[in-house]
Amino acid sequence: MDDFVLAGDLGGTNLRIAAVDRQGRLLYRAEAATPRYSDETRVVEAAFGLAEECKEQIGADPLAFGFAIPAIMDAAEGRIFSLPNLPELAGTPLGASLQAKLGLDVVLENDANAAAIGEHWLGASSEFSSSIFVTLGTGVGGGIILDGKPLRGPDGTAGEIGHMCVEPLGPPCGCGSHGCLEQFASATAIVRMAHELKSEFPDSKIIGASGLTALDVFRSGIDGDPLCREVFRRAGMYLGILLAGLINALNPEAIVIGGGAADGWDLFIGPLRAEIAKRAFHEPAERARILRASLGSDAGIIGAAYLAFSRFTAHSVNVN
Ligand SMILES: [Zn+2]
Repeated sequence: MDDFVLAGDLGGTNLRIAAVDRQGRLLYRAEAATPRYSDETRVVEAAFGLAEECKEQIGADPLAFGFAIPAIMDAAEGRIFSLPNLPELAGTPLGASLQAKLGLDVVLENDANAAAIGEHWLGASSEFSSSIFVTLGTGVGGGIILDGKPLRGPDGTAGEIGHMCVEPLGPPCGCGSHGCLEQFASATAIVRMAHELKSEFPDSKIIGASGLTALDVFRSGIDGDPLCREVFRRAGMYLGILLAGLINALNPEAIVIGGGAADGWDLFIGPLRAEIAKRAFHEPAERARILRASLGSDAGIIGAAYLAFSRFTAHSVNVN
């Protein structure tokens, strides 16, 4: 049996844990509903159950545990500052409790940083030493890899590009600011903007649709619906404005875009590229490859596995 670690991804809905080998292959995966409205003890219990399932299936003991969580945190110390989607876990000793229950060394990482690390190890940005990862989901997450290393910052907020302002008088954001990128490019924002534009597009097919999702808006946009195309044009424009600034400031070789709303790629990539061409310096804009993420929802788990191997095991991982 090859060496393996356990790697997990804690989402607002599901908790997933997988056994991952040094090549980044997922040998076995287990999943449960995320326990809510409790301190860390129920999450630790659920993680323990999934870890036992993985160990049983593999028939061996893992080397360590890497855990991607939706938190702003000090990854080196494992201290959690805030978890906007799972606030009940803020301030709990999640890492220490997992370590005690699982009997393994545990490393915690912000989920978007973990996904950036995963894409950098085995995904879309694996050929590049400096890249920016953006995930367009319920919110907008980000992770920055500079010269092969994740940029975290002393307060853990480096890479939070979803909360950079692109419209000073824009809608209020959960972070306390206004007009953050998240208010224009997340799946949640796609749906909100679709509703806001109904009066301007009275003939749109989505008017009267109940339970509208970002995917519905995308599908209607692909079918030619002008309202839905306008929504994605705006999302692409705002994302492009922000990426143009990051291209100037960080000079990345690649920008990787993932998350559910990245499915709208065909509708937003044109306006996005147009903003970059208009706003960024020529050379870094030409250099920066704009790529779709390639690891899907496994990116965070693969990044967490990379961290577990590299922090706690004697030999580094195999980099292709
Ligand atoms: Zn914000």
